[in-house]
Amino acid sequence: MLNIGCHLSSSKGYEAMGKEALKIGANTFQFFTRNPRGSKAKKIDPKDVEALLKLAKENEFATILAHAPYTVNACSADESTRQFAIETMADDLERMEYLPNNFYNFHPGNHVNQGIESGTKYIIHLLNTILRPDQTTKVLLETMSGKGTEVGRSFEELKEVISGVNLSDKLGICLDTCHVYDAGYDIVSNLDGVLNEFDSIIGLEKLYAIHLNDSKNPFASHKDRHEKIGEGHIGKDAFIRIINHPRLRHLPFFLETPNELSGYAEEIKMLRSAYQF
Ligand code: FE
Ligand code: FE
Ligand code: ZN
Repeated sequence: MLNIGCHLSSSKGYEAMGKEALKIGANTFQFFTRNPRGSKAKKIDPKDVEALLKLAKENEFATILAHAPYTVNACSADESTRQFAIETMADDLERMEYLPNNFYNFHPGNHVNQGIESGTKYIIHLLNTILRPDQTTKVLLETMSGKGTEVGRSFEELKEVISGVNLSDKLGICLDTCHVYDAGYDIVSNLDGVLNEFDSIIGLEKLYAIHLNDSKNPFASHKDRHEKIGEGHIGKDAFIRIINHPRLRHLPFFLETPNELSGYAEEIKMLRSAYQF
């Protein structure tokens, strides 16, 4: 079965997200752990989480993906901003244990003018501070498009981070199709080549989730503007190859396309019908 979901609003709570996912034909979903601008997180309602876990079990949900707020910057030049990232993400991970054995994805950060080396060092420091040996959550670094001074624009940059982290078995990668295409990885005409490169640099066993987004911009544009599946420069056929690829087809896929729920439902339906058994 194709494991697929989309980004959902968490404003109505956990069980509501599970029900919404079912309504649009999804068997997983992504949500922000708090307001994407990074404000205070709502307190966990254990009954609500319990209801979601029950629903997910009954409906054979795949792994659920939580997304850190965009505003955290683990490698800011400003110490208090870095400290905020550490506190926010540590708190998120603590709350994620109510929802055990799922994923928590974050953007490595923007080094601004400090250079990639100090940026990488700060991200490693954050991870070495927040990861716990007994946590059940996998923390995923997202592949970035390389706009501005984003860290994570290449497989090598992500590997550098992983290599510096003590509890690196708690770490993995979430590959965003729009981001890697914008970063200059040709998943349209050379998907096998890109996956081989990922495998030799990071190792495909580290790939835990895929963000499925088409791109509004052409190859290697370093822009990061998501488009609906089939309406951008990546194109529908490439997505059908991606979800069916023998090295990817078992992973959970998450849509972050510019859609309302009905648009997500259509994309999920199209992708499910294109998934080969
Ligand atoms: Fe993201
Ligand atoms: Fe993404
Ligand atoms: Zn993006």
